[in-house]
Amino acid sequence: MSLQSLTGSFLSFFEEQLPPQQFNSWIKPLIFEVDGEKLILTAPNSFTLRIIQERFITEITKIAQPFYSKQPQIEFRVEKRNLKTIPKTETNVAPTASKTSTETTKATRAPNKLNPSLIFDNFVTGKANQLAHAAAIQVAEAPGVTYNPLFIYGGVGLGKTHLLQSIGNLVNKQNPQAKVCYVHATNYISGVVRAYQTKTFDEFKNFYNSLDLLLIDDIQFIADKPGTQQEFFYTLNSLIDTNKQVVITCDTFPKEISGIEPRLTSRFTCGLTVAIEPPGLEMRVAILLQKSASSGYPINEDVAFFIAKHVRSNIRELEGALNRIEAYARFHKRIISLELAKEALKDLLAAQNKQVSVENIQKTVADFYRIKIVDMLSKKRTRIIARPRQIAMTLARELTQLSFPEIGNAFGGRDHSTVLHACKTVESLRNSDSALNADYNLLNQTLRG
Ligand code: ADP
Ligand code: MG
Repeated sequence: MSLQSLTGSFLSFFEEQLPPQQFNSWIKPLIFEVDGEKLILTAPNSFTLRIIQERFITEITKIAQPFYSKQPQIEFRVEKRNLKTIPKTETNVAPTASKTSTETTKATRAPNKLNPSLIFDNFVTGKANQLAHAAAIQVAEAPGVTYNPLFIYGGVGLGKTHLLQSIGNLVNKQNPQAKVCYVHATNYISGVVRAYQTKTFDEFKNFYNSLDLLLIDDIQFIADKPGTQQEFFYTLNSLIDTNKQVVITCDTFPKEISGIEPRLTSRFTCGLTVAIEPPGLEMRVAILLQKSASSGYPINEDVAFFIAKHVRSNIRELEGALNRIEAYARFHKRIISLELAKEALKDLLAAQNKQVSVENIQKTVADFYRIKIVDMLSKKRTRIIARPRQIAMTLARELTQLSFPEIGNAFGGRDHSTVLHACKTVESLRNSDSALNADYNLLNQTLRG
């Protein structure tokens, strides 16, 4: 088992579940270590430790479970340098096996965990997400009737969870009787494991089969988990056959997830598959303005444009930059101006200004398509070489300051019109070929780091 993937599972799970302040205060500072069949959790102080024990132990046990062959023992510690400040009793071993049968039931059932602040009303739309947004609204207004399943895919921090939760919240609002369940895939996996262990499989199945709306987040996590996949396949079929709505999110196009059975991926695409793309400049500005207006620290358009120009990767990062500026303003008791924004983001921008080089783009694209760089720069015109070359040229146009002639030069001395043509071709292909578009977005995000 890998400590890294275990830690990753914890972080991504709680990041989804908790508001950022809580995630940052309680979960982020934890240190995870593995010692044989034991999981050691070290908290920075005894207060954090107590919160973790009181509030998060069930979930932590659940997430850890699939990584161990039997129930993991969880040991709590406080960081050594802070140890003297805490009473002895607080470094102890948590009860690992479920305490009572009611708790087992609760865990097996993956309770409906909607976050009431993730709603359509505060979801900003633009070209990058309007299709996904429209489909989500339709599904929420008439669950089980239109697209089933609705499959939403896109890179990190682009709003998949927000949309998924918005669907649940709207359905709940319109029909409080509806049985809605939001579940992160890692949580679903632990549910399957636990159901096996506690022989509560029927209960587990019945719970999922009785839902009116199943929202399952980050389905890519079920890759390489055949047991879970089989279970999910049955649940998916049973829900769809009875016109119960299923909405799935994923970080890639369904056919591209490796380690998932083809019968499952083909079922994913039998409803509607929509992408969420990285937001363009104007949309990033709109998001910043909306977020800052609702936070009580409104920013003006100049500041919004400044942030949006420099923070390009995803919406979570935009929020991070905004929070940083707000905190800076609060701390220095100043109002938010362009000047202040520049100061507050100085370190962040310095790190980003390491420009992407054209060589880096060529190498990354060549690796991705498994072709040689010499071929990319050669005169070869077979599709297998030419398409990646065009993609690399387009990325160079987007990610560097180079002009068309300069890019042509960098690609084996080609004419500027060739570059122009490549950019146009790729642009139109991105609209018609979703697999190519997904590749492009992936490469783009990778290169931006
Ligand atoms: P993902 O699940 O795709 O990684 P999230 O849904 O968690 O991304 O979004 C990351 C953050 O950005 C969340 O705080 C979310 O509320 C916010 N966000 C994402 N998309 C939008 C949007 N279109 N409008 C407003 N906020 C958004
Ligand atoms: Mg998410």
